[in-house]
Amino acid sequence: MEADSDIKTTPRGFHCVLCNANLPNPSSMEQHVKGRKHQTLRTVRATRKTQEQHSVFVSGINPVVSQTDIAEYFQQFGAVSDIVMDKDKGVYAIVQFAETDSLQATLSRVEHQMKGLKLRVKPRETKEFKLIPKKNSSQNLQQALDRLKPQLCQLVSVNAQMQYVVERLQLGENEKKARGLLVQLLQEVFVEFFPDSQIQPFGSSVNTFGIHSCDLDLFLDLDNTKVFQAHAKSTTEQAGEGTSDDGRSEDSILSDIDLSTASPTEVLDLVAAILKRCVPNVHKVNVVGSARLPVVKFHHRELNLQGDITINNRLAVRNTRFLQLCSGMEDRLRPLAYTIRYWAKQKQLAGNPSGAGPLLNNYALTLLIIFFLQNCEPPVLPTVERLKDMACEEEECVIAGWNCTFPSQPIAVPPSRNTQDLSTLLFAFFTFYAKFDFAGSVISVRKGRALPITDFLSQNTEEEKSTKTQPHGPKLGPLNLLDPFDLSHNVAGNLNERSQRSFQKECQEADKYCRSLQYQRKSTKGKSWGLVRLFTPHGEVPQSRPEQPTISIPFKLASLPEGLRNQLHEAGDGFRLLWFQKVCSAVEGVFQRVLGCRLAPSAGAVFGEESSAADDDAGEMETTSASLNSSINDSCDSVECQNEASPAVGAKRQLSSGSDASESPQGKKPRLAKRGKPESPHWICVQKHMVWAGRRKVRRELVKDTDSRPEGSCMELESKVTAHIIEKEPELKEPLEFKVQPHMVGGTESTKAVLKLEPISDKTGVFQDLFHFLEAFLPKMVETLLEKEGGASQV
Ligand code: ATP
Ligand code: MG
Repeated sequence: MEADSDIKTTPRGFHCVLCNANLPNPSSMEQHVKGRKHQTLRTVRATRKTQEQHSVFVSGINPVVSQTDIAEYFQQFGAVSDIVMDKDKGVYAIVQFAETDSLQATLSRVEHQMKGLKLRVKPRETKEFKLIPKKNSSQNLQQALDRLKPQLCQLVSVNAQMQYVVERLQLGENEKKARGLLVQLLQEVFVEFFPDSQIQPFGSSVNTFGIHSCDLDLFLDLDNTKVFQAHAKSTTEQAGEGTSDDGRSEDSILSDIDLSTASPTEVLDLVAAILKRCVPNVHKVNVVGSARLPVVKFHHRELNLQGDITINNRLAVRNTRFLQLCSGMEDRLRPLAYTIRYWAKQKQLAGNPSGAGPLLNNYALTLLIIFFLQNCEPPVLPTVERLKDMACEEEECVIAGWNCTFPSQPIAVPPSRNTQDLSTLLFAFFTFYAKFDFAGSVISVRKGRALPITDFLSQNTEEEKSTKTQPHGPKLGPLNLLDPFDLSHNVAGNLNERSQRSFQKECQEADKYCRSLQYQRKSTKGKSWGLVRLFTPHGEVPQSRPEQPTISIPFKLASLPEGLRNQLHEAGDGFRLLWFQKVCSAVEGVFQRVLGCRLAPSAGAVFGEESSAADDDAGEMETTSASLNSSINDSCDSVECQNEASPAVGAKRQLSSGSDASESPQGKKPRLAKRGKPESPHWICVQKHMVWAGRRKVRRELVKDTDSRPEGSCMELESKVTAHIIEKEPELKEPLEFKVQPHMVGGTESTKAVLKLEPISDKTGVFQDLFHFLEAFLPKMVETLLEKEGGASQV
């Protein structure tokens, strides 16, 4: 298979030379090979190859020679399918034929003469197909920081550094003026075609958070035009007039389209046509109809400005007003937002370069900052609900059924009693999100607190999605951040597990750094300090390795079956415990049924369940359902305590820089276990075979199908793979014995089950191999088991 020749084995897994991608394990490699990027590049490479094999390189032409001249000349050798000319210099052309025979015919001609010119014709050079790497964004970021660094280092405090970041990045007065003039011009043009229409800027150009290169977001309000059109239509019908000689309406554009029935894309096609034809300096006009909100994109050459025009975006205009209000109410918001936005960009956490992508966008990031400020003690910003109450009657505003009321002037809002300075707030922001339970919460800027995710579980069932009577709930994902006004919209719904994890991890790193003197004090030796180190681009700070091997199984609502989601919903605040019990049962199933480990009696209490895990090999388990429940409660009851105190599931959080709230369940004094030993519940596993080695090959053989399922996606298959290895491969000289200790975290950090692994007897030195295998295999397999049985089994 050609794909295989692109994949090279490396000491760290695999490398795809075509896509320049490192792939840590066989299943990610298989996924990659089937993936869109790889498949597209293969197609592009094949097309290029065909083009090369059908083309000749022609030199000796001059700028007077046209493409038609070349086509006419070379057609004598066969059909010409394409001509690429070097237009600027007029020195060469590449002529592509439809058939290879034509190529031979051309090359066999000794002399080529055209319009008195002697042409030189030779086969086209074949080049090895290579993916041209995108501009190294990390290098760009580093360069930008290098320019900012000396000035930042000279300032006297982090507060001053934060103010300086605003000065350096914010839109200048001239830039604002230029944008304003362009908006004015567009307004004049559009009103010609869409009478009474209004163009309104929103987003970062006007929300007080704009930076030099930010785009220009525009809302074309056609509501009045619709009224105009409806009115014109009815008068025309009544009077039977209004048509010109050619039978068309006097206003030709409006006669092309009925705004009351046209789709957004149809209207935007028209907007695009107007932009192309009537607005000077505008190019690269593109309608993106597939976006959540269809948009026309354009570029303004002279201003070097990217513009977006939408027509169904009244809510965005309103949330822009909301951000303006927040800046007006609280001076500390802008320096915080500019600093955090810059930090997030450097760490590649925010800003999707091509629009769509799995990172936070700047709007979502700003809402996270506002939410944090609402949760400071005392609050720096009020909740949106409070703001609504502060508004007067004339300020009432409802858009698409959502209440968007807030005061129009900052003066209407009493100032905050919080007096913390910028550097303290920045530090507290990182602490806040370093410990935040993203998996178990839905962030509500409206209410100013995190709501338990269980409140939203039932809203996402298929049945409810199909009933149109109720507005459907937000799309839940790894980070749930409700829009302050459109409460059915998760503004961070585009994030994936990885981007959410990176965000929290970087917050943890930043939190750690902010505790150091390097953050707090100016270096007397001229070294980097304060914000400079915080801004170091992603990937340059070595990540510390965990001391003890641990495997995390994150709470992923999206992949749970509906039955289990309902059970969790019914469990209310106790959903974490119930989920943890299910995970423990699945983990046991993986070790015992899938990987054929013997679960030996242990000194402490052992997990188990009345599930099939115990059915298969009951003799090897020392567990009973009574010991299971008490054990599990032992291992996570501190989590329940955290929940009670946790703002993530209800009450408002008091910010503290101490870490006692995030103490792991292990940090609690364990209760006495069954035999009076203060030991946490755990499994002791024994394995005599290297069931982790060579699984891919065995799986392939068993399935005999190149399109086989990825690793960990099917329990029966994985069990067979293990049985096959146990049967065919020799035993280890000494069995491997290891301990697996599960505990749960959540409430004050992302809900997840954490398994600590520890070798007890590893005379053959294979524990590390097993651990690396389990790191990827176990979470995937647990997910599969939960999907299969999680909803059905009883704990
Ligand atoms: P920048 O363009 O500098 O990245 P921005 O705030 O303009 O920042 P855009 O992505 O251009 O961000 O979005 C423009 C505006 O559209 C936002 O300011 C916000 O008002 C609205 N918006 C963007 N994303 C969302 C979203 N996911 N949900 C609701 N409104 C959004
Ligand atoms: Mg924008």
